[in-house]
Amino acid sequence: MLDKIKDSFTSKQLACSNCGRKIEEGERFTANITMPSERNMLVSRLDNAIARTANSVLCEKC
Ligand SMILES: [Zn+2]
Repeated sequence: MLDKIKDSFTSKQLACSNCGRKIEEGERFTANITMPSERNMLVSRLDNAIARTANSVLCEKC
């Protein structure tokens, strides 16, 4: 319950779509992203932007 509230205030974590593991700093990952329209272009922090936009994210192990 408390975690859910906390989650809504913190930015979305970049995690692997396959195993759910969080993508750590310095780690390589593969993301499948649909090119957004000019208006919806990625403007926030890269990890948050990818987490919101990506169709799928795969960590190094997957
Ligand atoms: Zn994974």
